[in-house]
Amino acid sequence: MNRIILNPHKNKEDSLWIKDILDGKKLGKLTFKNNEIKIKLKAQFKSYNLKQEALMTYQGTWGNYYQEFIKDYNQEFCDTYIYDFPLFIESARLKPCEKDMFDRPTLLHPAAKKAWRKMKKAAKKESIDLQIISAFRSLEYQKHLINNKLAKGINMEDILKVNVLPGYSEHHTGCAIDIGCKGEAILEEDFDQSEAFGWLTENANNFGFYMTYPKDNTTGICYEPWHWCFKSN
Ligand SMILES: [Zn+2]
Repeated sequence: MNRIILNPHKNKEDSLWIKDILDGKKLGKLTFKNNEIKIKLKAQFKSYNLKQEALMTYQGTWGNYYQEFIKDYNQEFCDTYIYDFPLFIESARLKPCEKDMFDRPTLLHPAAKKAWRKMKKAAKKESIDLQIISAFRSLEYQKHLINNKLAKGINMEDILKVNVLPGYSEHHTGCAIDIGCKGEAILEEDFDQSEAFGWLTENANNFGFYMTYPKDNTTGICYEPWHWCFKSN
């Protein structure tokens, strides 16, 4: 649930670089002077949320804060809080990527986009046409997804068998991609019978992509052969 790391500044003892945890890109600087902490983010990365994350990462309180934030955010969905999945945070950096299989625009973290483009190209050379089914999803989108199902009369217990609550989807990170291939099963276990899946199993790791929910995984989420996530090297 961290988007950043704080690294010492070579020349300034009172400063730390705020860097993107995935590719080390400098997002800003944290300076402490006379017991005061100042955070300066580069113009294109300025956001209240990221500033809070930098401050709280420095203070060691970010993990707890985000946990509470998501609890509050999901109040309307859960009265008694017994939801025990790993938390994820919305990416602070997103780049438009190609349209998905259903012609919708997609967004990915720049590092994930770069790796995805490389992997897609390599697969294409072997006549495997990898397609995005779903990439980045915001907290709001996830909320909307669940509210839509509730509005259709589906009960929460059944919804949570196939969807996670906002804050718990790896798609928030901008690094997870549901991958498909024309003519193959979409978001179904049978995707693992496809040539595309065979290719991914052999090659995806070389591009930094890993299957998050393999068979018999212990996360509590069912087998998802289509869901691959870019991890930093
Ligand atoms: Zn997914």
